[in-house]
Amino acid sequence: MNAQTELARKILSEYDGPPIRVMEVCGTHTHEIFRLGIRSVLPKQLEVISGPGCPVCVTPAEYIDEAVWLALEKNVTICTFGDLVRVPGSRSSLADARSRGARIQVVYAPEDAMRYAGEHPEEEVVFLSVGFETTTPASCLALQKAEEAGITNFSLLTANKTMPGAYLAMGDSADAFLYPGHVHAIIGTGLCEQLAAENGISGVAAGFTASDLLLAFALIVKKTQEGKPFFVNAYPRVVTREGSPAAVRLVEEWMEPCDSEWRGIGIIPDSGLQLKKKRDVYDARIRFGIPKMDAARPTACRCGEVLQGICRPTDCKLFGKACVPDHPVGACMVSGEGACSAYYQYGGYING
Ligand code: SF4
Repeated sequence: MNAQTELARKILSEYDGPPIRVMEVCGTHTHEIFRLGIRSVLPKQLEVISGPGCPVCVTPAEYIDEAVWLALEKNVTICTFGDLVRVPGSRSSLADARSRGARIQVVYAPEDAMRYAGEHPEEEVVFLSVGFETTTPASCLALQKAEEAGITNFSLLTANKTMPGAYLAMGDSADAFLYPGHVHAIIGTGLCEQLAAENGISGVAAGFTASDLLLAFALIVKKTQEGKPFFVNAYPRVVTREGSPAAVRLVEEWMEPCDSEWRGIGIIPDSGLQLKKKRDVYDARIRFGIPKMDAARPTACRCGEVLQGICRPTDCKLFGKACVPDHPVGACMVSGEGACSAYYQYGGYING
């Protein structure tokens, strides 16, 4: 253990102040905090709650309905990350659609979908473009490559989201955010400084190793005691103030901000990205005239409250009973990055 990690552990173990509520907004943080046993060395006054950081979990049921409609009504080939296949829509999932004859291809990157389209010119191919700032540049790059290669049977069904709107919407839910290091490696940290200075929202940009996380939590404990809004970049080996201008530029060439619906939370203004008007030809909604979907949500699933830190997965009466990873009821149990999945997998419901 290095000196910095030792100091972080000391700060955490000696803390005897008032309760501190920390919201992590990143599926990888959700899982790494459990997997690395970080909770066991945090002071009991420090409560860690999961926010809307899992891209699959925050994707609304209507979006799945749109993808199912494309696959079944328009005979489109859907290319998607594997997690989305089992996420329930309002009536069915993509897995159900596949059993009814839909062509659903699991890919590992948007470029795989673009390549598939190039190899299958007789099919219309739609990539399900979900995710935050970390994955959106890859979708835009796939479009750029499709354009360069003259691939015309490829388009995106976008549900890309951006974190700043979520931070603002969730600002009152916690004393501090554990900001996702990979998101801020792209967009930089200027926004976090602004949130602290102008909105009184505190947070620490954190990496993903045990040392990174202990340091971040120790900084939150220390800075919270000072009683002023703060931002600290605790992941400077990857995160800079400027972020990645090249990735930001690429996204700006293809997409523009829009209001976006987050599953269980509702519409957050300017928290999504859609293709620019001049890129209409790559927009599956316009290309195929997708009708407006009106989703009826399952009432017993509390994903929306879990994603806002209002309740824990274990507060849902379906958790571990009707809803388990093999038979998920809601998106938070489907996705490998979901809070319900993490609580189930790591037994967080036993040790908090
Ligand atoms: S345990 Fe299942 S049903 Fe309950 S909130 Fe989580 S995903 Fe929804």
